[in-house]
Amino acid sequence: MFLPSPWRADFPAIAELQRQGQTYLDSAATAQKPQALIDALTRYYVNGAANVHRAQHMPGMLATQAFEDSRNHVGQWLNAGESGQIIFTHGATSAFNLLAYGLEHEFVADDEIVVSALEHHANLLPWQQLAQRRGLKLIVLPLDANGLIDLAAASQLIGPKTRLLAVSQLSNVLGTWQPLPALLKLAQTHNALTVVDGAQGVVHGRHDVQALGCDFYVFSSHKLYGPDGVGVLYGRHDALARLHHWQFGGEMVLTTDFHQASFRPAPLGFEAGTPPIAGVIGLGATLDYLGSLDQEAVFEHEAALHQLLRDGLRQRDGVHLLGAPQLALASFVVDGVHNADLAHLLTEQGIAVRAGHHCAMPLLQSLDLPGALRVSLGLYNDSEDIQHFFNGLDQALDLLR
Ligand code: PMP
Repeated sequence: MFLPSPWRADFPAIAELQRQGQTYLDSAATAQKPQALIDALTRYYVNGAANVHRAQHMPGMLATQAFEDSRNHVGQWLNAGESGQIIFTHGATSAFNLLAYGLEHEFVADDEIVVSALEHHANLLPWQQLAQRRGLKLIVLPLDANGLIDLAAASQLIGPKTRLLAVSQLSNVLGTWQPLPALLKLAQTHNALTVVDGAQGVVHGRHDVQALGCDFYVFSSHKLYGPDGVGVLYGRHDALARLHHWQFGGEMVLTTDFHQASFRPAPLGFEAGTPPIAGVIGLGATLDYLGSLDQEAVFEHEAALHQLLRDGLRQRDGVHLLGAPQLALASFVVDGVHNADLAHLLTEQGIAVRAGHHCAMPLLQSLDLPGALRVSLGLYNDSEDIQHFFNGLDQALDLLR
């Protein structure tokens, strides 16, 4: 049975990619963009670009207004409410680095930072490097067989020495929702700060950061169908107040002479230099578009496609799924076949999937794998895309085995 995507035509690149013979199944790396975003970028550039927060002239005021409207929109999207704020960065990676440098003064030797075994390098390396700079211990929470952070182990490993917990909401390799409420509660029992990597989670459903109760929540616009070059850092006011400034320059300063300076609080104090103005405005337009969709229908469509993907992979001899993916993506390996060879043959057939370690090298090492293939879905995919993938996979495996 053909499962069409009612939103496919809203994404002009999908038809163009199809014309080029490409089936795009790599949305967890970056998503294609809706026409609503492309129109907003064009409007901004055609009507007159201007810098934000510093110009007294009309184009500057309009740009600042649109930029701040987007900030409010992102705040509403996450239900940041009165108790939190949105800082724009240049991506999720910049947001994690901001946190690791901005919080550095909070740590003394032998304090513990807790991450999990499935973290993306973006939510591992900034903490690993901070631990090295300050002589801290980096504690790694193990996973269970389904790819979930093991709560029994976590309750042993998160303790009085834990000063910060940084974990993913949805794994970019295993496609599993992590047990965040229980983990955050454990950390909060010990007064540790909590950081959630929402880079994959934010793309699926709506998440309420106040209900979640984390101190910080991070994501990148480009995976949420928005422009690249824009990251979001949500922080609760009391947690944001603990950050030290980390990048210095225009916009973030209150007063300075040659020798001394004072700085703005969040958010502007953490947005040094010209921010990605068009991108932030474009993210606002993307959220307008996403907000206009029937969330339930999107959820059901993605779930139906994911089931097709999972079932098809499970039916094939010698194909092994990594963990038990719940939505959006599936990673797999094939007995006796190197993932790079398979990726090569899929690429030759116009199937755009991702191969390798998926920026989670320690996770792949712990599974004793040199790499894996990952198929990931966007709301514009349809069942024909999945069929193309399986046709390509079967042809490739016929050649390789
Ligand atoms: N965390 C997760 C779970 C991700 O999937 C990614 C992107 N692959 C990132 C963080 C980093 O995002 P970016 O490269 O946009 O900074």
